[in-house]
Amino acid sequence: MAFSEVAPFAKTGGLADVGGALPLALGNLGCQVRIVMPFYNRFVEELAEADPVVENVPVVFGSQVIDTDIYRGQLNDSIEVYFIRRDEFFDRTYLYGTPKGDYFDNFQRFTYFCKAALSVCSAVQFQPDIVHCHDWQSGLIPAYLKHLVAAEDLLAGTASMFTIHNIAYQGQFAANLFPQTGLPDSFFSVDGMEFWGGINFMKAAIVCADVITTVSPRYSEEIQTKEYGHKLEGVLQMHQRKLHGIINGANYEEWNPENDPYIAANYSRENLEGKHMCKLDLLRTVKLPERLMNRPLLGVVSRLADQKGLNLLAAVMDKFVAYDLGLVILGVGEDKYHTLLTALAERYPEKVAVRLEFDERLAHKIEAGADMFLMPSQYEPCGLNQMYSLRYGTVPIVRATGGLYDTITPFNSTKGKGVGFRFTDYKPESFWETAKTALDLFSQTETWRQIMKNGMATDFSWLSSAEQYLKLYEKTVAEKAAESRQQAADSTQSATEGGIGKQKAKDRRKRGKA
Ligand code: ADP
Repeated sequence: MAFSEVAPFAKTGGLADVGGALPLALGNLGCQVRIVMPFYNRFVEELAEADPVVENVPVVFGSQVIDTDIYRGQLNDSIEVYFIRRDEFFDRTYLYGTPKGDYFDNFQRFTYFCKAALSVCSAVQFQPDIVHCHDWQSGLIPAYLKHLVAAEDLLAGTASMFTIHNIAYQGQFAANLFPQTGLPDSFFSVDGMEFWGGINFMKAAIVCADVITTVSPRYSEEIQTKEYGHKLEGVLQMHQRKLHGIINGANYEEWNPENDPYIAANYSRENLEGKHMCKLDLLRTVKLPERLMNRPLLGVVSRLADQKGLNLLAAVMDKFVAYDLGLVILGVGEDKYHTLLTALAERYPEKVAVRLEFDERLAHKIEAGADMFLMPSQYEPCGLNQMYSLRYGTVPIVRATGGLYDTITPFNSTKGKGVGFRFTDYKPESFWETAKTALDLFSQTETWRQIMKNGMATDFSWLSSAEQYLKLYEKTVAEKAAESRQQAADSTQSATEGGIGKQKAKDRRKRGKA
């Protein structure tokens, strides 16, 4: 598996959670998984003390050969993680860019990563059946497997899977960089990685991977439409046959109120008492008044990016505040949202607390201490926080998109079923109307407890997702093997036919002479 982030080694969002959990679940099913990721010095300081497992592995990059050192870590006892160390590329403060924008050399950084990731296989003599790549940062790997691997190579016949975790981030760069990829000229075309005059890593992966997945069934349909496809909808429609939606799992070893070490008191579906303590602890931690113990407390933990619906939240803030409730927001991301949220917190210091940082502990405290969790996303490929919220009895209010649609069944008061609240139109009125329904129900203690308990009973553990991936790996590998056998048979046949053809021509010439 090739990942640009894996928890606990480096994390900006849900991608790292998948990187840290899916391999473990697959390992439990008997797969032998090895992971490759960049060596981000700042995030893996302790590894820097260790010796590399292989030194000076040559990586052809454009017209140069740039060596890499490979370091090794462990995800658990059996799953190894290989780190590509090349400090001029990966020794940075952030993973992909600063709050002001992407790093200027992301093309070089991740082209190098893709090339080096494949070199790891021969360097450590590991021959995978399938390479599973995740998001644009590893998007060139399927293209390299298809176009650059020679017949005698260790990786000849290796299948590839590409998972789209978020189609908005595609890895688009100027066309003049194309030669540095080392891919054949013909690949700079409409059937290859050319995209509106530039190049696009995600498109390269969609075109070349043997199978494509995305992180929820709903999102797999959405990304084939103009509204959600970010201009790749046409390409995806063309490759629809190999596109599948598999929902992410939640890692309940990390996210479980029964034994979460970060929260003030543990609690369970059977005994909710501790949740009260967690609410008090959260109010104290973020310095909101304790009188809010009697009012609904809402939580948000999010990357601060356009997709997350923060404008919608800002647009209904006055209404929320007028309802008299507490709101705790934890997030980092784009500068404009830092400014927007800071202004909101200053305007409503008694009701709104904002923390602009990445804080794992506070994220857990919010999941446990809040009564409701807001995810008004414009789009959400899968979303993990709503699954965590369910387990913590923190009722999600979400927009019905992607994985939020697939995981949050709306509460139905007649049947007493459903786990949360969801709205469809990306409009402040719709968000507010739905939030108001939830807020009004909050005071009906018995009903509210029912909703909480319904959510706490849901199970999105990784096992069932991993089983689906395994099935797909097996099918893809079998198809790839059949394809390779067919190609081998075809080339033998054409060689034989070529031989027979030559003999016939010789015979004809002989007859002619006679
Ligand atoms: P995305 O991958 O789009 O960021 P997800 O909901 O799939 O969204 O995953 C987000 C993950 O990142 C969750 O584990 C969430 O708790 C975590 N997270 C996001 N922002 C922060 C933050 N500021 N501090 C701590 N954890 C955060």
